[in-house]
Amino acid sequence: MPLRPNDKRPAGHSEQLCPQTGRCTGGHLKPEQRATTDTELITAAWTQQPYNIGIATGPSGLLVIDLDMLKPSEPEGTPDGAASLQALCERAGQTLPATYQVRTPSGGQHLYFTPPPGVRLGNTANRLGHHIDTRGWGGYVVAPASTTPEGSYSLCDDRPPATRTGSAKPSRSHRGLSARLRRRSPRQRSDTRLLRCGVRCPTWPRQGTAPATPCCCGPRGLWGG
Ligand SMILES: [Zn+2]
Repeated sequence: MPLRPNDKRPAGHSEQLCPQTGRCTGGHLKPEQRATTDTELITAAWTQQPYNIGIATGPSGLLVIDLDMLKPSEPEGTPDGAASLQALCERAGQTLPATYQVRTPSGGQHLYFTPPPGVRLGNTANRLGHHIDTRGWGGYVVAPASTTPEGSYSLCDDRPPATRTGSAKPSRSHRGLSARLRRRSPRQRSDTRLLRCGVRCPTWPRQGTAPATPCCCGPRGLWGG
């Protein structure tokens, strides 16, 4: 799916600004629903604008682990995403398999995995560990070759996404992790604004009212317009 040029946010209009025409004639389509593998649509879109590339993780059969770097304000010694995941693997007695990997402009990592068959995983934020997010159904990741003012997303390892590894009989900690990944937070249940574009709104619903710009999906654009 197209993201705004040089930006991480999806191209296209928000639900509030939906013209109810074109692909939205039957009702507004969210970015995940608009994501396509149709090469004609893709060619038509990218011929018009140098969009960044978004991958709707759910329909693509992916679960991507997003490992963030520390913020400048965080005290020295705080584990970043990579360190948190390493500690998590050690506690679970698992080795992290080599897999498709992308470096983000900030120095973070996206690790691509294929969830086990029949398992539908959504997004999580800081649930598996400090600075570890996951993207599944309802989310997306910025694909390599995309750029932002901070830099580019670059491919570090192009092997196919790894599937679940480890013993056939999951350990207790293993089962605990699976449960954490599956659990839906109250925020996710009550707040569709979180899911509309796959990006967390920084203010909703903290104040109990909708922020001035409830969704990061921008003004109407080519996609779905
Ligand atoms: Zn629409």
